[in-house]
Amino acid sequence: MKKIYLLFALCVFSIVLKAQQPAAHVVKDLKITILSTMLAQEGTGDWGFSALIESDSSKILFDSGGTRHVVLDNAKDLGIDLSKVPIIAFSHGHDDHTSGWLPLRQEMSAINPSAMSLTYVAPGFFDGRITPKGPMFSNRKDSAAYVQSGGKIVELKTWKEIAPGVFLTGNDVPRIYPEKNYPPTLKRVYKNGTIVPDTVPEDMSMVIRTTKGLIPLTGCGHSGTVNLLTAVQKHFQDQPIYAAIGGFHLLASSDEQIKWTAEALKKAGVRYFMGAHCTGIEPVYQIRTWADLKRGECIVGSTGATFDLQNGFVAGMLTMGKGPNAYFKK
Ligand SMILES: [Zn+2]
Ligand SMILES: [Zn+2]
Repeated sequence: MKKIYLLFALCVFSIVLKAQQPAAHVVKDLKITILSTMLAQEGTGDWGFSALIESDSSKILFDSGGTRHVVLDNAKDLGIDLSKVPIIAFSHGHDDHTSGWLPLRQEMSAINPSAMSLTYVAPGFFDGRITPKGPMFSNRKDSAAYVQSGGKIVELKTWKEIAPGVFLTGNDVPRIYPEKNYPPTLKRVYKNGTIVPDTVPEDMSMVIRTTKGLIPLTGCGHSGTVNLLTAVQKHFQDQPIYAAIGGFHLLASSDEQIKWTAEALKKAGVRYFMGAHCTGIEPVYQIRTWADLKRGECIVGSTGATFDLQNGFVAGMLTMGKGPNAYFKK
C-alpha cells in the first residue's frame, strides 16, 4: 500500500513540475538575410559569410564577413539597420567569418551602445591560425579591443538557447562520420605555441526551432553536414529539419560524399537548402538532384537573398532564375 502512495505522490510531483516548466518556444516569424557571401546581385560579393537572423522579437548576427567593412557596406546597400542587433555569434575563428567583428561593434555602438555588445563563440575560437600563404592570424587582438569597448564574450562548450527558440550548438557536434569538411592546409597554434593541423574544433552552428520545423544555419560547416544533422536530430529528438542554410564546405568533396550528404538531407526531411560560401556552386546543383528538391527550393546563396517561413527563399534572378520569388535589382 505504501508503495502505491509513493507512486501516486511521484506522479503528482512530476505533473506539477511539468506544468511549472515554461512551454518550449517555437518561432513563428523568421527572416534570415544573407549579408555576405561570394555571389552578390546586391551589395558586394566577398569570400566569407554573414547572415542576419530576425526571429520573432530577436535579432542576431551570425558571422561578420571576410573583409572588415563588407557587412557594414552590404547592410547599407540592403537598407538594413544593424544598430538594433545586440548579439553576434561566430561559427568559428577563421578570418573569412570574423573580420567585421570590431568595425561592426565600433560603428554600431556609436549609434546604440548595446549594438553587438554580446558575442558567442566556442572554445578554440581564439587559437591562432597559419595559412600556407600568409602570417599567423588570430582574433585575440580584436577581442581585447571588443572587451575594452564594453562588449561581453561568452564561450559555449555545449548547446544553449540564446534567444527564444534560437539555439547555438557550442562545439558539441560529435564528428561521428569522417567528413573532414575543412581545408587540409591550415594549421592551428595553441597558446603555448604548439602547432597542429586545424580541424576547427570550435565549429558552432545555430539551430532555430520554428512552426515548420528545425532550421540549422552553418558558417563553414567544418564539423560536417551529416554530423550536424545527426546532432540536431539527437538534440531535438527526431523533429524534422525543414531547411538547411549556410556554408557547408563541400566545394572539394567527391561526388560520392555529396550524394551521401544529399541523401541524409532528404532523409532528415529538408525541404529548402541554400548552399552559400564554401558549399561551392556545383555541389548545390548535385544536392538539388540527389535530395529531390526543385528549382527555387535549393539555391546557391547570394548577398541579399532571404528565407522566411511563408515564402521560402526570395532571391535575385541570378540564383533563382524566373519565378515568383525572384527579383531583379541592380
Ligand atoms: Zn573556416
Ligand atoms: Zn569560411
